[in-house]
Amino acid sequence: MTGSSTVHSGIIVKKYGGTSVATPERISAIAEGVAQQVGGVRGLIVVLSAMGKSTDELVALAHQVSRRPAGREMDLLLATGEQVSVSLLGLALQDRGVAAVSLTAAQCGIRTDSAFNVARIQSIDTERILAELEAGRVVIVTGFQGVTTDHDITTLGRGGSDITGVAVAVAVGADACEICTDVDGVLTADPNLVPAARLWPEISYEAAIEMASSGAKVLHPRAAELCMAYDIPIHVRSSFHAREGTWIRGSDDMVMEQAEVVGVSSDRKIAKITLREVPDEPGLAARVFQDLAGEDICVRLIIQSASSEGRGRITFVLDEEFAEQAAHLVEQWKSAGIASDGIVDHDVAKISIVGSRLASTPGLAARMFSALAREEINIDCISSSEMKVACVIAGEHVERAVRAVHDEFFPPEPAR
Ligand code: ADP
Ligand code: ASP
Ligand code: MG
Repeated sequence: MTGSSTVHSGIIVKKYGGTSVATPERISAIAEGVAQQVGGVRGLIVVLSAMGKSTDELVALAHQVSRRPAGREMDLLLATGEQVSVSLLGLALQDRGVAAVSLTAAQCGIRTDSAFNVARIQSIDTERILAELEAGRVVIVTGFQGVTTDHDITTLGRGGSDITGVAVAVAVGADACEICTDVDGVLTADPNLVPAARLWPEISYEAAIEMASSGAKVLHPRAAELCMAYDIPIHVRSSFHAREGTWIRGSDDMVMEQAEVVGVSSDRKIAKITLREVPDEPGLAARVFQDLAGEDICVRLIIQSASSEGRGRITFVLDEEFAEQAAHLVEQWKSAGIASDGIVDHDVAKISIVGSRLASTPGLAARMFSALAREEINIDCISSSEMKVACVIAGEHVERAVRAVHDEFFPPEPAR
């Protein structure tokens, strides 16, 4: 991404997610908060998601008229959700006497490539945003969407408003980007699954990327990558109260550096594909993953098992939304003799421990596996790196698995 490199200190970007703007009352509450804050900063930019579950509802609507809704028309449809929320906040602010302007991505120059449904931001032309700030207006920007050089509307992928928030903050040289959401910050696990999860006052960019990419959801992985690449601090905090949440920034002198495990994450929205009897020849794995990349399908975990009698097995895990597309590729690979068959399994989940020096610290992986064993949860696939140990398990066990592994690394504090 290329953006303005000018430093505009005093500008804050605040991004609010779907739950935070779910009702007119919540939008009014955000307007009240913005009205109070506006005099204290040089410029305020608010990035919004669509209201509540409205993007899900648009997806469901598309499925009523199309078997595989995707591509350009799908993005034109999905992008409408954010236009509703930004215009409502604009009206709510103006009603309170606060000068404000709501802008779509096309109106404020958020340029993306043309990978519909998973577009990447290439640049943000900040001229309009900065002119509006200069004129004393609060700028409200649609999250999740962009525009191509051909003027087509794109979307960045589900949960993509976080990416818009951070990208806008980078482009205008904001002091920080606040991700305002429905939890208190980044915790040691999803507090909706583990009520005893603990809040981190700060975590490193690296840990945030790993937590996000292993399913923590509270921050989009691409947003976490952007904040690290451009060294822009993020404050993940609650939309519903003013207490400090979690600061994500460079890792110098950070309390959590001592910790080995920072969190336990899980992801149920995945599917596992196993290609069986893959001939043991150079180039076949390359072909499989080139085909997936050709369709912009991100693969989360890959395992190739040792072959016997000249044939092996390739297993990979991908986001569930891409499973249907990948299933079409499986048919092509079968016809091309790359695999005898391919099994698509939707009833799987991934559970990960995330932290530092995981693979090189003896016993950490064993503790995770033992916690799962005590619950009699079978591990299907394992992958590990210095920052993550991930296990694929049956989807139905995921909540129990997260609680058990969390209790192992963050034992409940004794009641006083
Ligand atoms: P928004 O609509 O504000 O973008 P999301 O639903 O995308 O919010 O992300 C917030 C959710 O992330 C929380 O409600 C929580 O269930 C989930 N979550 C998962 N893991 C974590 C974690 N480690 N810390 C905080 N929240 C988490
Ligand atoms: N509204 C979009 C979605 O539901 C983007 C977002 O919420 O971040 O995926
Ligand atoms: Mg989100």
